[in-house]
Amino acid sequence: MSYQDKFRLSGERAVVTGGGRAIGLCCAQALAEAGAAIVVIERTEADAQDALALRDKGYDVELRVGDVTDAERMEAIATELAKGGRPATILVNNAGIGQSGIPSEDVTDADWLRMMNVNVNGVFWCSRAFGRHMISMKRGSIVNLGSMSGIICNRPQPQTPYNVSKAAVHHLTRSMAAEWAQHGIRVNAVAPTYIETPMVLAVEANRDRIPIWLGDTPMGRMGTPEEVASAVLFLASDAASLMTGAIVNVDGGFTCW
Ligand code: NDP
Repeated sequence: MSYQDKFRLSGERAVVTGGGRAIGLCCAQALAEAGAAIVVIERTEADAQDALALRDKGYDVELRVGDVTDAERMEAIATELAKGGRPATILVNNAGIGQSGIPSEDVTDADWLRMMNVNVNGVFWCSRAFGRHMISMKRGSIVNLGSMSGIICNRPQPQTPYNVSKAAVHHLTRSMAAEWAQHGIRVNAVAPTYIETPMVLAVEANRDRIPIWLGDTPMGRMGTPEEVASAVLFLASDAASLMTGAIVNVDGGFTCW
């Protein structure tokens, strides 16, 4: 197989959770450009309009409305795709929520539980649901959106729930990778730095934090959603055929210091 062919995803079907905007949308586009048929999971049809517009470029993109915290709905989508004869062979667990700036002593039970429910439970429910069908096929590739916040405790803002949720995603990645290698399934994660997306830019207080973050980054800049999607594409493809349980930093060197 040529190196170029290793990146080709023709015949694959990729599910991207939260694929309607920002990093998820770029992942959907990257995988579609490599030839995969895409299923985006979003909570509303309105959220998925930019992903569905990829059809105008000739890509095979479908929407399933669902919330990743709804385990039953995730099972139903996975089963429906399999019964239709085209089960997912790639899963990108991208849907996630951010939260920063709340000191631990002020984090409410609801804040904590919501963070774990979306960022950790959601990743597990989806991996389990789509992974069962991958086990039957004896192949599959799962890529999780972790974060450098799962590796280091970045300053200046306190964000313990988010940091803990992403550390859990990293260990879930390694644990499932070890378990499912025997079934021909690879499970990897990317750990991005601050990326220019609504999750970061919509938080007013982050404007004052950005100079501090840039000073903490050897490359001196934030990342783009496209730069994250490139790493996701690599991990999803056969180009990463020996990689499983890897947490790939996409962070401009942030975690080097
Ligand atoms: P955005 O907030 O811009 O987009 C997240 C997407 O996920 C939205 O489309 C959102 O839809 C969807 N989503 C959220 N919750 C759910 C849910 N319960 N069920 C289904 N879909 C949901 O985030 P980013 O693109 O910035 O981040 C994507 C991933 O990358 C996240 O896991 C994040 O933690 C991670 N990451 C981001 C970094 C960054 O700096 N931006 C850095 C490191 C990691 P809706 O409109 O319904 O909320």
